[in-house]
Amino acid sequence: MEPTKTSTWRQRAACRGVEPEVFYPLTDEEADEAKAVCFSCTVRERCLEWALANRERDGVWGGATERERRRMIRQRRRSA
Ligand code: SF4
Repeated sequence: MEPTKTSTWRQRAACRGVEPEVFYPLTDEEADEAKAVCFSCTVRERCLEWALANRERDGVWGGATERERRRMIRQRRRSA
């Protein structure tokens, strides 16, 4: 299969090899470990934009929890 833009940035993801459970905390308060990985990740912005564009519902993406991404989407809608 040809690599896609998505798979290209995912290959540089700092979360590769990290236990997936870390990125699916039960509460926002338990998301600190995932966020720490994200904030050291060189593709954080692309990951976050992908999650926002695809309305990714679960987990921490681009350093943001589901609740934080919903807030970002609302803020963008208001300022559009
Ligand atoms: S920003 Fe976080 S979730 Fe996204 S690729 Fe990087 S480490 Fe993984």
